[in-house]
Formats: sequence, structure tokens, C-alpha cells
Amino acid sequence: MTMSGVSESYASFDSASADVPIFTFVLVKLASRCNIDCTYCYWFRDAEVYKKPPVLTVEAEDAFCQKLEEHIRSFELEYFMVVFHGGEPLLFPKRRFITLQDKLRAIEKRTGCVIQRGVTTNAILIDREWTEIFKTYEVLPSVSIDGPAEIHDQVRVDFKGKGTHAATLRGMELLRAAGIQPGIISVCNPASDPVQLLAYMVDELGIKEFDILPPDAKHGDDPPPIDTYFIKLFDVWYDTYAARGVRISTLDAMIRGLSGHLSICDTIGLGRVDTVTLMTDGTLEPLDVLRIAGDGSTATQSSVFANRLQDVQEDPRWLAAFKASLALPEVCRKCEFLDACGGGHLAQRWSTERQYDNPSVYCESWKAIFSHIWKRIAPTLVVDLEPVSVRQDN
Ligand code: SF4
Repeated sequence: MTMSGVSESYASFDSASADVPIFTFVLVKLASRCNIDCTYCYWFRDAEVYKKPPVLTVEAEDAFCQKLEEHIRSFELEYFMVVFHGGEPLLFPKRRFITLQDKLRAIEKRTGCVIQRGVTTNAILIDREWTEIFKTYEVLPSVSIDGPAEIHDQVRVDFKGKGTHAATLRGMELLRAAGIQPGIISVCNPASDPVQLLAYMVDELGIKEFDILPPDAKHGDDPPPIDTYFIKLFDVWYDTYAARGVRISTLDAMIRGLSGHLSICDTIGLGRVDTVTLMTDGTLEPLDVLRIAGDGSTATQSSVFANRLQDVQEDPRWLAAFKASLALPEVCRKCEFLDACGGGHLAQRWSTERQYDNPSVYCESWKAIFSHIWKRIAPTLVVDLEPVSVRQDN
């Protein structure tokens, strides 16, 4: 069996003729500020964010709702996803959050389109009122927690440098007490032991599905390699935790990619990047993590005041990111791990000199990780052949 499957779609990609997608997902920045100061945060690496209103303005919210309804009607959408994001989205006032949910419900009623909602939070501001709001409006939270206090508190700190683990855990416990099991996202510390993180998530918190991501970084940042960490993570998960039903999205995606299936996943790069981000002033931007490039790198001329949602696709900045997500550098197109890696996360391909025309800043690590995982899973794969029909000549 060889590693093959979907790389042909990259090899043959013609960026000039690529059909751009109809949006079915928007990242809504409810707050451009945060209540903590994580050391690895991508969001504030572009200082332009400080020029944005601290929370989504009422005018931008109204214009967005109007443009969203028009968009749903124009494309007769039956399903749409809105993820509330920040900064820290729960800095948005509760009263306004409820009003926004009511507006979305009214759009659902008028159009028949189901609008799913998610919120990505550090959980620190969660209280019983927030849990009730989430339940009432079916908003699914995802919580960022990097493991036990001794790992989490090294990087997820407040503005005085104090760890935030206890506050995050308290928020998570309130969610779980209310019957809400949040999605869990961890950013790995490559210098730590992944066994500690696994044991904490599974054995202490009783969480069986979560994700572990490498720290966001671009070329020029010189991040530490992640191969030792992810190889050990894979081995311990594969040998011990997989049989207990524990799922880690990034590892699932790697295995799928290596065994010739589509491995679309945020962490590594396979698939197009077609996210649209609503900023607090009503402007529309590409995927928020691309701000890691700094200096207004995601700024566009589009906004919900002057444009339809779909119009951002004509903006050079949005289009550059979209095309780059499909037109990979030659070294990636020839790479044996292309189907599993897809060139890495788009933000991690950025360099000032060549923009997105680079393999991932973690390329060497990914190669070592994929090579290791392939060696471990290849002997277990079963080749599933279609039955061959035999012609019967009389
Ligand atoms: S980033 Fe590296 S490992 Fe990934 S596809 Fe490109 S060359 Fe291969």
C-alpha cells in the first residue's frame, strides 16, 4: 500500500480558474481585546487590532445580520455556521449577546436556514448566566486549556504574568455542571511531556475528545521543533489511550491523510482556506490566524456596510490567502506526505520574503512525525479491493 489519495487536486490546481466557494461559515469577532495575555497569541501580533472597537459595534452587528440574511436568501442556504470569537468573546456584554442570538433566530425563522453557533473562549468569564444563555440558544463552547496548571500557567497568563489555569477550570466546571461538554483545544508546549497532558485530560478531567495543536508560528520566528513531542504523543495515544476511546483530532487527521483519505483539519494544511472574519468595526477579513504576518496583513477594503458577504472574495488579500491554500509550493507538491500535511497550516507558511510560497515552518518536524506514524500504522492497514466480476463465456 502506498500513501496516495488526494494530492492530484493540488498538482492540477489552476488558481486563475478556481471556483471560489459560497460561504457557509463566518467567524464573528465579538471582542478585539482579551482579558488575558497568552505568550503565544497570534491575534495581537498585528497591532492594527488596537485600532478596532473593543467590541462589535451595534451598527456592525445590524449590518452583519442584514447581510447574512441576504446571503442566506441569495444562495438558498439550509445551513450556516457562526463562530463567536475574540480576543475573548465573552467580553461582549451578555445583554447584547442575547439580542444578537434573537436576531439570528429571527433570520432562521424567516429563511428556514439552520444557523449553528459556537464560541471559542478561555472560559474565565463564564458564570451561571452564560451557561444558561448557551443552553437557551444552543451555542456550543470550545475552551482553550493547555493541560495541568504546571503546563498551562507557563503560557496562558494574565496581564500580571499570573497563571489562569484555576479560573479556566472553574469556568469549565460550570459548563459541565450545566450539562454542556465543551470542545477542548490545547496548544502544546514542545518542551513538556505529552504524557502529562494526556493523563490530565483523560484521567483527571475525564475528557475523551480534544485537540492538541502546535503553537502558531511563521517563518522567521524560529519556533522549537515539535517532532519529539508529537511522536511521543502519538505513541502513547496509539499504545494506550486509543483503545480507551480517546480521540485527538490532529492525530485522526494525520492517520486519515497517511492512509489515503481526506484529512481536512485546522492543524495541518489539507484543504482550502475560505474563512471570512467579521471584525468589530464591520470590516471583513480572511482567516484570523493570518494576522500572524503582522502590519495590517489581513486588512481588506470590504465591510458589511458597503458589501455583500460574498464580495470579500474579490478582495486581493482574501483571494491571495484562498489561492495560496490551494496552490502549494513545488517542494510540497512533490512531497510524499502531501496528502497528510497539505503544506502545513497556511499561517505557518508565511514569510516576509516569499509570503505563502513556503512549506510549513514545521516542515522538518512534520516529515519526522508522518514518517514515524506511517511506520507504525502501515503494518496494520488492510487493502480493501473491489470484488472483480468474472466474465462467464459459454
Ligand atoms: S510542509 Fe513539508 S512535510 Fe508538509 S507537504 Fe510540504 S514538504 Fe511535505
